[in-house]
Amino acid sequence: MQQYFSEVELRLGSDYVLTKEQAHHARDVMRMDGDKIRLVHEDRAFFASLRMDGGMVVAHIEEEDFRQTEASLQLTLAMALIRREKFELVLQKATELGVNRIIPFVSQHCVVQEKKEKAARQMERWHQILVEAARQCKRNKVPLISGIVPFTDLGEYCSMVNLACYENAGSMASLISDHIDGISSATVVVGPEGGFSFNEVEWLKEHGFACVTLGPRILRAETAAIYACAIVAERGLQ
Ligand code: SAM
Repeated sequence: MQQYFSEVELRLGSDYVLTKEQAHHARDVMRMDGDKIRLVHEDRAFFASLRMDGGMVVAHIEEEDFRQTEASLQLTLAMALIRREKFELVLQKATELGVNRIIPFVSQHCVVQEKKEKAARQMERWHQILVEAARQCKRNKVPLISGIVPFTDLGEYCSMVNLACYENAGSMASLISDHIDGISSATVVVGPEGGFSFNEVEWLKEHGFACVTLGPRILRAETAAIYACAIVAERGLQ
């Protein structure tokens, strides 16, 4: 069953006219007519039946879907700017794993630098990746993504628990799962290909971030991000 997000409120028994992009996907790509789809608006989901109506594709809203596909723990992923395709992979996987908010940041050892002149187009592309991933996995919400922030702004995105994934935290360091029992929100920070500088690690500790280990191996940044989100997502199922 395909899912689409609506910008307008949805009401049982009423019709929703798919947007141009949604209609193209439903009619021309998925060749649907008469099929059922899932429509979501602000964390409420409905089942609807599609019909072609002239050049429009119209969904008649028939039943509310009370399945809750959002995670109970509000997870913020602060992700260092890494190579484009890897950063975009993190956006897609973090969405599937239930992340609520993504904060891209630049830090001292980032290989990729921010290109302000491309910021608007990049943000639009990132948002499209999040919408498509949320649509595919039937989420009731699309994760929020901020603009690229400097490392020292991360203090503005703290949660109930704040964790920094640090490969040199040592074998006695705590694990993500040691910190997330019974909490409602967490912020997890993952560094760039070049890792965190010594000063950045000190800054994180001074600002209440616990350095956690993801094990003895040095993971790629995208692996670390996906792994961290998966640990939190799985705990949210218990
Ligand atoms: N400094 C690393 C090195 O020596 O190659 C490179 C950083 S690693 C490629 C990218 C990021 O992934 C790190 O900044 C950290 O946030 C996270 N990471 C990788 N392996 C980790 C581990 N074993 N434990 C905790 N975090 C890890």
